[in-house]
Amino acid sequence: MVDMRRNRERMVREQIEARGVTDPRVLAAMRKVPRHRFVQEALRLQSYEDHPLPIGYGQTISQPYIVAHMSEKLEAAPGMSVLEIGTGSGFQAAVLSEMGLDVYSVERIRELHFATQSLLRELRYYRIRLKLDDGTMGWPEMGPFDRIIVTAGGPTIPEPLVHQLADPGVLLIPVGKNKRMQQLVRIRKQDGDVTLEKLGGVAFVDLVGTHGW
Ligand code: SAH
Repeated sequence: MVDMRRNRERMVREQIEARGVTDPRVLAAMRKVPRHRFVQEALRLQSYEDHPLPIGYGQTISQPYIVAHMSEKLEAAPGMSVLEIGTGSGFQAAVLSEMGLDVYSVERIRELHFATQSLLRELRYYRIRLKLDDGTMGWPEMGPFDRIIVTAGGPTIPEPLVHQLADPGVLLIPVGKNKRMQQLVRIRKQDGDVTLEKLGGVAFVDLVGTHGW
């Protein structure tokens, strides 16, 4: 029996702390969420390695470092509401939930939505709310959101998401005309102003929808 907690501890030290992530809530959440449960059984041993992994339907669970990096760049505090676009495996949603956030997450692929819904129940993440829909339209009935995180890359910033962002609020999204490579963009809403900041290159699967590809 492989000790997954040891793998996880090593992952946090060597991939996340070593690269400069310091937010204690992010580090604690990355230590707590059982990442190996969010991939298919045959890939469990690889789940703590330094790369993304396939989760079916042409989609991936993000690299551990990217999940931690984005969670830190959200500048979130417990009790805030966060909308995630691209539930996928549910791993990022579980990390945000462990950070004390009120998580709403939208996925467009039916099979992933239902599989992740039952996994999150089994792991007792009862407070994460999931929706099967085109997330580029946001989740208007539940907004505005203090934080929004998009975990798929689109050609532009979906207008409905900026609209559903609270003031003050922070929105993180990979954006780029090139499908294999995006800029991680942070949008800040403050006193009615919207400002944009580039945080560096990332590579995400396609954001597909009305305001996506
Ligand atoms: N956060 C996920 C990453 C999954 S990959 C995790 O932790 O595992 C990105 C996901 O975004 C895929 O599952 C893909 O189907 C989904 N996606 C792409 N476009 C979408 C859209 N318009 N609305 C909702 N989900 C979308």
